[in-house]
Amino acid sequence: MSNNEKQPLVQVNDVCKYFHVGKNADLKAVDHVSFEIYKGETVGLVGESGCGKSTMGRCMIRLYEPTAGEVMYDGKDITKLTAAEQKEFCKKVQMIFQNPYASLNSRMTVKEIVGEGLREHGMSAKDADEKVQELLEIVGLNKDHMSRFPHEFSGGQRQRIGIARALSVSPDFIICDEPISALDVSVQAQVINMLKDLQAERGLTYLFIAHDLSVVKYISDRVIVMYLGTIVETAETEELYGNTLHPYTKALLSAIPEADPDRAKANKRILIKGEIPSPINPKNCCRFAERCSYATERCFNEMPKLREVKPGHKVACHLVEE
Ligand code: SF4
Repeated sequence: MSNNEKQPLVQVNDVCKYFHVGKNADLKAVDHVSFEIYKGETVGLVGESGCGKSTMGRCMIRLYEPTAGEVMYDGKDITKLTAAEQKEFCKKVQMIFQNPYASLNSRMTVKEIVGEGLREHGMSAKDADEKVQELLEIVGLNKDHMSRFPHEFSGGQRQRIGIARALSVSPDFIICDEPISALDVSVQAQVINMLKDLQAERGLTYLFIAHDLSVVKYISDRVIVMYLGTIVETAETEELYGNTLHPYTKALLSAIPEADPDRAKANKRILIKGEIPSPINPKNCCRFAERCSYATERCFNEMPKLREVKPGHKVACHLVEE
């Protein structure tokens, strides 16, 4: 069944998240963003730091309330859930955070951290302990780790604890917010492979937020590229990497190191001019215009719409024809 015929598990409809930062000044972290995620798939959400991708993820788990628009989970608006539905939502949707150092309470043991959600949802202490042991084994740790504190672990082990905590309440959907960017390169692949294995075993759905396009390519079925609060391009992974259309996506892809020396010579790095502009009261034009080598007058006067140019491939650029 193609995605067009399926019901999305998550639907983001025209979501905005603005932070009021002064008189007549709004920081538009997320600005009219729409996309959907289907059950069992991994959607990569990429862009430079400050593009709004983590804010978007936080709106999807109610850590932030959207300023406008709606996030639907399993057909229901997550801001309009009853108390019982909210409790169920908290079990079904979990988040793995970027910083495994900051996201674990340093005063709690691993047993308490991983078992917290289980006890909150009514499991007895004995059953919770058994479940924690099982979860630790799933993520490559063991029962001897249960009585230890977060500072006794390496970064990779802490992220494994974070993953065990997320899995503890048997979620369907996990938002992985830059889960490997704080880890040594040597352990990044282990964590990614573990996430892939868990998905295959448990039928999990992931939103994988990252700034590294090479990682996203490896794990994602579809990729969404954000720039300054808006989506600039989205497509299935193979299509996005093989038929890149937006100048910003092209520049990001050109920065991925190429292992093959011949291909590395052929692939010219596209440098993006200047710094990412301020997201406070952005101009109503192409947000990439100031840094784009192809910008025309129209780009500085009119915001390009996100248009579908091929089935499943959408791009927001005046130069790309339908
Ligand atoms: Fe560049 Fe214009 Fe396309 Fe924006 S709309 S990405 S400025 S060519």
